[in-house]
Amino acid sequence: MKIIAVINLKGGVAKTITSDNMADILVSVHGKRVLLIDNDKQGNTSKFFGLHGYDKKTISDVLLDPKCNIRDVIEHTKYKNLDLISANMDLMMANQKLILDSTRIQQIILREKLKVVKDDYDFVIIDNAPDINIGVMNALVAADEVIVPIKIDQFAFDGLEQLIEYFDSIREGLNPQLTFRGCLVTQYANNKTNKDGTEWLASKAEYPLFKTVIHRTVKVDESTFYQMPIMRHSRYCRASLDYQAFVKEYLQK
Ligand code: ADP
Ligand code: MG
Repeated sequence: MKIIAVINLKGGVAKTITSDNMADILVSVHGKRVLLIDNDKQGNTSKFFGLHGYDKKTISDVLLDPKCNIRDVIEHTKYKNLDLISANMDLMMANQKLILDSTRIQQIILREKLKVVKDDYDFVIIDNAPDINIGVMNALVAADEVIVPIKIDQFAFDGLEQLIEYFDSIREGLNPQLTFRGCLVTQYANNKTNKDGTEWLASKAEYPLFKTVIHRTVKVDESTFYQMPIMRHSRYCRASLDYQAFVKEYLQK
């Protein structure tokens, strides 16, 4: 079971779109079994799969309740072999409470709990908040790999250096095997800014980069509206083909 954390300190860079579509493509094209974890209080991944709510167990219970078995929190999505742990606004307080709990090593909770399902899935994909909080630390301590979606705009590289330094500190500390798999350029538009920004990234050895870029297309916004992975909403649109190429590149690399 490979655990992937999708992360960037910025919002709106397509962390959620990338996590959810990568999960769907791994399942539907490559026949893998995937567990998606929504680790953002906004609950966008949970909403995308129609599983957002306040009347059930969520990632907050996994992190906060020592007795909570992760199997009791996992829900099936309507897609075969694609399961989900949801999140809602309670995650904000859960993160606060966790920091104050001095009875446990708080950063390793998710890693320990995931061990129970290690034979149930091929991949776990964690969609993170645009922040470093204790829940996100848990994701990075549990992860084998990180993927960083990037939208090339004026603020694209803000915080990137700090994020990569943070990966280093996680590696020096609780998770020596954390691999930075690469940056993924998303919402790519065919203009000079995107071309220059992508070339700049490619020239930096410290920022591994996926060759595939995900083009901007209105179909992606539509897919969130209809709560359907892009492949199921519009199989042959540009972003769908791009995400399929990205997953292929990811599996080959
Ligand atoms: P994050 O999780 O990083 O905050 P999201 O995945 O929610 O970002 O994406 C932010 C917004 O950008 C959403 O409205 C989404 O529909 C849109 N978006 C993401 N990828 C694309 C794309 N390839 N083309 C068009 N819109 C996109
Ligand atoms: Mg998101």
